[in-house]
Amino acid sequence: METTAARTAPAVIVAIDGPSGTGKSSTSKAVAAQLGLSYLDTGAQYRAITWWMVTNGIDVTDPSAIADAAGKPDIVSGTDPSAPTITVDGTDVAGPIRTQEVTSKVSAVSAVPEVRARITELQRSIASAAGTGIVVEGRDIGTTVLPDADLKIFLTASPEARAARRSGELKGADVQATREALIKRDAADSSRKTSPLAKADDAVEVDTSELTLQQVIECVVTLVEEKRAAK
Ligand code: C5P
Repeated sequence: METTAARTAPAVIVAIDGPSGTGKSSTSKAVAAQLGLSYLDTGAQYRAITWWMVTNGIDVTDPSAIADAAGKPDIVSGTDPSAPTITVDGTDVAGPIRTQEVTSKVSAVSAVPEVRARITELQRSIASAAGTGIVVEGRDIGTTVLPDADLKIFLTASPEARAARRSGELKGADVQATREALIKRDAADSSRKTSPLAKADDAVEVDTSELTLQQVIECVVTLVEEKRAAK
């Protein structure tokens, strides 16, 4: 007799990487919602641990202080794409992790190997528990966290398009200042020793500069459906 598990679509793991402002979050959430998959924003986890370091007076310019504290906060991510959540020690930090202070410090904290080891472990356990599958977005998902993902997407966009999108999101932010901050953060994320921002060899690269969000979503949904059909 056919089991329920055999009738449902097989679990699919989708890794979406790329620099900030390429539409990663909006695309990942929409694709997950449309296909009934879970969703994990790994940037939010790095922001959450950074928020905890700042709140607890840890010197974020001191990698050994960060390493010593890396195991302390309890970070929990809710993976419903229509209402993703993030808590630290039970406190909702969805708002505080988006401040300028956290944004300017997150690259330094996320470069520390002990932080990456801790967060990577968390990400793998969330992905392996996602029943119908999951869309995981970040910088090193296809290369390091989930190298066996069924589909890897690497989103890119011109610096101008990325800065314009981010300034729009931040309502009224200066485009030039946003562009410089983005370039600085990408350079730090791309040049760190441990699992830098990088395109996996087997990732599909999608340049979103000239595409609408809807077009990017459709493109990724089609790629996921093709992979699912082939499983
Ligand atoms: O995606 P978002 O811009 O919120 O990510 C914030 C920061 O978290 C990045 O600039 C990067 O330093 C770090 N990050 C990372 N690895 C990931 C996701 C995010 O190092 N997989």
